[in-house]
Amino acid sequence: MNGITRKRVLVTGGAGFIGSHLCAALVEAGDDVICLDNYFTGVKDNVAALMDAPNFELLRHDVTFPLYVEVDEIYNLACPASPIHYQYDPVQTTKTSVHGAINMLGLAKRTGAKILQASTSEVYGDPAVHPQTESYWGNVNPIGPRACYDEGKRCAETLFFDYYRQHQTKIRVARIFNTYGPRMRADDGRVVSNFIVQALRGESLTIYGNGSQTRSFCYVDDLVGGLMALMKAPDSFTGPVNLGNPVEFTIRQLAELVIELTGAGVGIEDHPLPEDDPMQRCPDITLAKNNLGWQPSVQVRDGLAKTIDYFKTQI
Ligand code: NAD
Ligand code: UDP
Repeated sequence: MNGITRKRVLVTGGAGFIGSHLCAALVEAGDDVICLDNYFTGVKDNVAALMDAPNFELLRHDVTFPLYVEVDEIYNLACPASPIHYQYDPVQTTKTSVHGAINMLGLAKRTGAKILQASTSEVYGDPAVHPQTESYWGNVNPIGPRACYDEGKRCAETLFFDYYRQHQTKIRVARIFNTYGPRMRADDGRVVSNFIVQALRGESLTIYGNGSQTRSFCYVDDLVGGLMALMKAPDSFTGPVNLGNPVEFTIRQLAELVIELTGAGVGIEDHPLPEDDPMQRCPDITLAKNNLGWQPSVQVRDGLAKTIDYFKTQI
């Protein structure tokens, strides 16, 4: 090591969309990175460019089983995030969130590592408070088709705070709002990838419901910066903290913007709104601004243009 001490950082779900960008940023920062994944939705191609780096290694493992490695920091991202993927095997989704959290928290307890949980705006469910602040407890249907994800993530937050109170584990909880960018899967099913892929293929864009529901879209590089800032923050700042871009769009506005940016001469098709689909979502990021000095800097137009360029190479 020539006298250089590198941090040993574990990224679970590291071969996924956000995880692969996070691994690249950590490798670039000089950390010793272990990327763990069971390839449920992630792919090795996402981290292929890192394979030759001496400070990167790839580990096939499922977080629902215990793991014994020596690390200083853990980013716990393992969990399918797209509704079609997390509803494919809902029991496994809950196991991944809950057993995965227990296993990774156990690892953090044994090693004394700091551990960050990739939680979600879905803990607010279909929110009655707008924009959402971290003090809002949410409005989640515990028995609906999204519950495997929403309640799994809520239980993971509970476990993180119980380990913090009971074992003084150094935790951080990020509530991530809709994030997009290169390396989303073309068949991911989320709105940004669906609309871009449909426009590039010359197909109509599929709007679920009447398109008046809202989301706020954060470019992946901004999000990764927020996760790393949270890990670096003092241990007294546990979160939960919202990370997202507070510029709110209706889904119809997003469709129109994608059509404009791709220059595709395609139309829009209305489809039924999925059950329990939240009607409005926008983060209040005051806490992140004040405590992490973080806010997104990539405009949605610019982020979408980069994402469109990526998908042009994929399809
Ligand atoms: P993704 O599906 O691309 O990545 C998830 C990764 O976890 C994949 O590589 C998958 O193979 C892996 N994984 C799933 N189950 C696993 C298991 N049991 N063991 C090991 N690996 C497993 O999704 P993403 O968008 O990159 O999301 C990453 C994290 O961020 C997730 O925890 C998600 O809940 C959270 N998040 C994402 C968003 C978003 O908009 N992208 C929003 C809120 C929260
Ligand atoms: N959506 C849509 N068309 C699509 C995919 C999604 O209108 O082809 C809608 C979906 O119903 C939701 C919003 O876009 O209201 C965001 O969906 P996504 O699956 O991206 O994320 P989430 O619902 O988890 O925020």
